[in-house]
This record gives sequence, structure tokens and C-alpha cells, in this order.
Amino acid sequence: MGILSLVILLLVILFWPAEEVAASGSAPKVTLELGIEYPVAIPNFAFEGINDTGDTDTTDYISYKVKSGDTLAQIFNRFSLSPQTTHKVSRAGELAEKLTRLKPGDLLYFRINEANHLLGLKFPLSNIDTLLVNAKGNDFETTIETKEIESVLSFSQGSIKSSFWNAGVEAGLSDLQIMELAGIFGWDIDFAQEIRAGDSFNVAYEALYIDGELIGTGNIAAAEFINQGETFTAIRYTDNQYYTPQGASMRKSFLRAPINFKYVSSNFNPKRFHPVQKRYKPHRGVDYVAKIGTPVLAAGDGKVIRSQYDRFNGHHVFLQHGERYQTKYLHFTKRAVKLGQIVKQGDVIGYLGATGMVTGAHLHYEFLVDGVHRNPKTVSLPKAEPIKAAHKAKFLEIASQKVSLLDNHKRILLAMN
Ligand SMILES: [Zn+2]
Repeated sequence: MGILSLVILLLVILFWPAEEVAASGSAPKVTLELGIEYPVAIPNFAFEGINDTGDTDTTDYISYKVKSGDTLAQIFNRFSLSPQTTHKVSRAGELAEKLTRLKPGDLLYFRINEANHLLGLKFPLSNIDTLLVNAKGNDFETTIETKEIESVLSFSQGSIKSSFWNAGVEAGLSDLQIMELAGIFGWDIDFAQEIRAGDSFNVAYEALYIDGELIGTGNIAAAEFINQGETFTAIRYTDNQYYTPQGASMRKSFLRAPINFKYVSSNFNPKRFHPVQKRYKPHRGVDYVAKIGTPVLAAGDGKVIRSQYDRFNGHHVFLQHGERYQTKYLHFTKRAVKLGQIVKQGDVIGYLGATGMVTGAHLHYEFLVDGVHRNPKTVSLPKAEPIKAAHKAKFLEIASQKVSLLDNHKRILLAMN
């Protein structure tokens, strides 16, 4: 091992400057002589697997990659470890059971002394957890070593040109984060129909690191969404809920749109800018165009007061929410609820279709307050509980910190673009 390292070191010293020179366009300075064999570095040799976990503590260990059909006994035998050792290790407590369920590609790290005794065994279970088996007297003991995840606040900013989804991807957000963002603001903004070119967002989210390496993202800590000139800001609190910077809940008793924005085909139409098209539609509802079979959700908690078919409305469902509110959903291809059924907000009540008097597949959605049709996109909706009084002072402090962090990074990111 020592000689091997020395060879590699020499190779690095020999070729490093040459590569740099070559990269800058001139001929390499190192000249090779005829008749002499030069060692050439082979990629991935010898060290394969050892750095996979990023664990620096496996230097005294020999790695082994589990092959299809391998058992612990076979692997131990390959390392000339006695069947007794296999037996002791496999019975070293409950955790050792994990070694009986090895999969091809799993990595094992062995530490074996000159007398061929097993001193230690490491089995990485995930990026975070490693099973440790250590010799203790005549036996072995098992523990789990857990790496510390470091959470760093990261920032992302986007502006909508073609669609919210594309802007999110362009801003470096994952699919999940884009959906989360729509979920946070979806109570105020109808992401299926009310997003416009020029709308923008700023997000502060947790980036998760292990040993300095990014392993994923955590929660959205704070976010701002500017929709048609109106700014919405959400701050996450320790109760896992989002609130406005003043402490009001972001959640409301009704969803702004009873359908996931991702499925709505016409979720972005620049022509909607036209002032004439902004008028309240005469048929007193909102149409969502999407594929037949797209799930339609209950906008709020309630009770099914109608679930039937007629030749005008096709398959349709009406919901009653408390005493004052009603929502109506028309033209389903199939209904998913029965008369009298109690539904929760977000439950699937039917599937978008083209039944009844329609020209194409769509969901026709109506919102009524005290029996009067209201625009579901603009009607003021009752909000969920605000931040608890006992937490308010602490929350307001956190919120103002997060808001200024968002503002600062918005300026920095805008300046960079
Ligand atoms: Zn309609």
C-alpha cells in the first residue's frame, strides 16, 4: 500500500505541471525517453469504493463490494476469517442482523491484524448511518455511527417567463421544492390560472450537507411571491406551519383552485393580460382545462349535498362547507364521492371530464357565499389559526430576520443576473 501511494504521488508530481501547461496550449515540458517503461495511472484502480462514503476513517480498512449471491460467511471466508468469527459477528446484537441482508453493491470495510483476527468492520447503511462492529475481548459489539447533517440556508430567485414550473427549474429548485412553493402560496394565488409573465419569487431553503458535501434540501424557511404586482411573504415557524410576517396563517379554509396547477394545460396564457379578458366570466364559474381523468379536489372540509348526472352538468358534485359556503364541480368523467359523504380539504371528489353540455374536457368550478356566486379567485376566505399568542413575540423576531435575509439576497441575486 505504501509503495503504491508513493508511485501515485510521483505520478502526480510528474504529470501535474505537464497537464497544466498542455491545457494552456503549449507543449508539455516533460519529455519521454525511448526504451523506458513509464507507469500510467489507471482511473478508479485500487481505491474504488473507499472514498464512496466520504468517510476518512476507513484508511486502515480493506474495502469489499458485495456481489450477487454473497453471504456473510462467504465474504469472511474470502478474507480468511474463521467460521467462528462469522458466527460471533452475526450474533453481536440486534444491529448485526443488518449484515444478514446484504445486497449486491453494498460496501464492507474490514480491519484485520497480522494474525488474521478481525478488529473491526464498517458497513455504511446510508449517507448518514454506518454500522460499526468492533472486537471487544473475545466478542464483538455493534453500534451505529451517525454523521452530523449541517443545514445551511440557501437562496434562490426566479422570474416567470413561460411558466411557474420552468421558472422554478431555472432557479435551481427541485420538483418537490416547486410543488412546496405552490403549496405555501396556493391559498392566496391560483397557480393554475393566475400566474403571469413578470411574476417572481425568492426562496430561502435549507441545504443539507454531510462532511461538506451537499446531500439534499430541507424545508423552505421563508419565501416571497410577487403575483401581478401583489407581494405575498411566508415564514416557516417551529410548528412546521407558514405564517405571514405579521403572524397570520398562510392556510385558509378553502383551496384557491380545486386542481393541482401541474395538470392544468392552460396554466399560462400571456393573452390573459388583455383587460377585456379580466372581466368576471358571465357563466359564474372558473374553467380549468386539463386531461380527462385529472383528479379534482374538495376545496375545503365539507359534506356532499349532491352527486349525480344530468345532461347539462354531466357528472357533478356539490359540497356544503359550514352554513355559508358551497362549492360546485361540473363535467366529471367519474364521481368519487356519494351523497351525504363527509370530505376533507384536498380529498379527491371526482375526475375531470367532458360530460354534459361542453365543447371540451374541463372542470367548471363555482364558489357560493350565502347562496351568491363569487369569484373563487378573489373572494376573501376565512384563514386558519394565526400564530399562538405565546409564540408571537418570538415569531415576529424570526420573521423580520428572515424578511431582511430574503431582501438582501434578492438584491445580491438580481445584481448578479
Ligand atoms: Zn365553465
